[in-house]
Amino acid sequence: MNPKDVIRSLNPYQPGKSIEEVKKKYRLKKIVKLASNENPYGCSPYVESEWNRSFPKGHLYPDGYARDLRVKLSTHLGVQEENFIFGSGSDEIVQMLCRTFLEPGLNTVMAWPTFPQYRHHAKIEGAEIREVPTRDGCHDLDQMLEEIDQHTRIVWLCTPNNPTGRYINEHQLKDFLNRCPHHVLVVIDEAYYEYVTADDYPESIPLLETHKNIIILRTFSKAYGLAGLRIGYGIADPKIIQYLNAVRGPFNTTSLSQRAAILALEDQSFVRRSRNENKKNMQLLKQFCADHQLDYFDSEGNFLLIFLSKSGLEVSEQLLKHGFIVRPGELLGIERSIRVTIGSYEDMKEFQEKMLMCL
Ligand SMILES: *Cc1c(COP(=O)(O)O)cnc(C)c1O
Repeated sequence: MNPKDVIRSLNPYQPGKSIEEVKKKYRLKKIVKLASNENPYGCSPYVESEWNRSFPKGHLYPDGYARDLRVKLSTHLGVQEENFIFGSGSDEIVQMLCRTFLEPGLNTVMAWPTFPQYRHHAKIEGAEIREVPTRDGCHDLDQMLEEIDQHTRIVWLCTPNNPTGRYINEHQLKDFLNRCPHHVLVVIDEAYYEYVTADDYPESIPLLETHKNIIILRTFSKAYGLAGLRIGYGIADPKIIQYLNAVRGPFNTTSLSQRAAILALEDQSFVRRSRNENKKNMQLLKQFCADHQLDYFDSEGNFLLIFLSKSGLEVSEQLLKHGFIVRPGELLGIERSIRVTIGSYEDMKEFQEKMLMCL
C-alpha cells in the first residue's frame, strides 16, 4: 500500500510528553506540564459542577450545526449566527481551510517559526509553502506581502504568535489588510486572544465588516481550559463559512464539547482570573530571566520562549527529571531555547528553582 508521496515527508505532530509517561520513567510523584499552553487552573469550576448535573445524551448524534453554542457565541461576541464555523479544536479548522483552498499549483504564505499545523496541512494538499522568517519573533508583514502572487490563496497570521508570543498591533493589522490582495484569504489565528493585555492589540471582529477575505480563529483550549474536549471556532463572511462547511464532517464536534463551551462562556470571571494570574506569573518569570541573564521574547500569550546558552533539548530533558515538562525550542524551529507555559504561582516558583539547576 502506498500513501501520497507527501505523506512520507511529513513528521507527525510530536505531542508534549504525557504526565503518566514521565511519572513512570523518572519515578516521580508530581509532574507539572508546561509544554502545551493548557490552562494551569483547569476549567471553570462552574463548568465542572453543571456538567455533572446535565451530562449530554451520548446515544444521539450531536447537533452538527451546534445551534445552542452558536446562539450563545453570537450574543457573546455580537456576531451573526451564520458567521461561525466550529471545529474539533481550531486545529480542525486549519485542516478544513487547507482542504478548501489549497491544491498543487497554489501557494500559501506564513511566518517562520509559527504554529506548525498551517504548514503541515498545506503540505498534505500539495500547495507550495512560503515561509517568511520572523524578525525578533514578530511577523515580517511587508515581506509576507511581497511573497503574495496570483497563485496565493491563504496567508496565516498567528497573533500572539506561537511559539514566540509576539503580536501584531492594530495599526500593523489594518495596514496589512488594506494592502493584501482580495483574492487571498487572511487567517487571523487568535488562539491566545483571551490572554492578551496589550492596549494596541486589535479587535479583529469589526474588521469583518470591511474585509470579506478574513477568518478569525479562536479556541476553548487555552484560556477556557477545555483542551481535552476539542472545540474551537472560526468567524468569517458567510460565503467563506459555506465553502468550509462543504469539507466539514457532519458531526465534527461532540455534544460534550458543545455543552462545555456553552457553560465556559457563562463564567467570564474565570477567564478574567486566568488572564490576571497569567500576567502576574509571566512577570515573575520574566524577572527571573532578567536576573539570570536569560533572553526571552516578550509574550502576550500564556507561554514564554526563553533563550539558553545550551541546547533546549538538553535542558528540557534535565527539567523532566525534576518533574517539569517544557517544550524544547529545537522541536519548534528555534535552537537553544525552551517554550514554557505559564503555570500557577507555586509551580512557577518551583520551576525557577529547578531551572537554576539546569542552566
Ligand atoms: C493551541 C493552538 C491552536 C489549536 O488549538 P485547538 O486546541 O486545536 O483549538 C491553534 N493555533 C495556535 C496558534 C495554538 O497555539
